[in-house]
Amino acid sequence: MLNIARIRNGIVIDHIKAGQGIKVFNWLGLDRASYTVAFVVNASSKRMDKKDIIKIDNTIVINFDILGLIDPNITVNIIEDGAVTRKIKLRLPQRVENVLSCKNPRCITATEGYIAHIFYLDNPERRTYRCEYCDELRAAGDFI
Ligand SMILES: [Zn+2]
Repeated sequence: MLNIARIRNGIVIDHIKAGQGIKVFNWLGLDRASYTVAFVVNASSKRMDKKDIIKIDNTIVINFDILGLIDPNITVNIIEDGAVTRKIKLRLPQRVENVLSCKNPRCITATEGYIAHIFYLDNPERRTYRCEYCDELRAAGDFI
């Protein structure tokens, strides 16, 4: 693997499925970052064939529910004073509000703009979510 300068205080987002890193990078708005960000694509991995990694040399706020929605197999390490102080295990959130939107034109969320788009986890294996109002299914990856 490439040798990247260690970060002192920040976040390492690891085990991103190869090719998906750009989604996470864009979702976090890292193209506009004023701090150091290392974005590695197609790194070798023991656990996976290839993976993407994002190292952020800053403590930013990340919504781990949404990161879990992108891919629950991603791992997050929090770095303080150059050492890993916390490992965060992601999961598919049970409920998401105003993240996925319903595509059913007859759904109440389509006709009444003020109603929140609420989805519940339907099938964890397939990573599908079900609209609270009309039962329309959406894939977890559809929002990004
Ligand atoms: Zn709906």
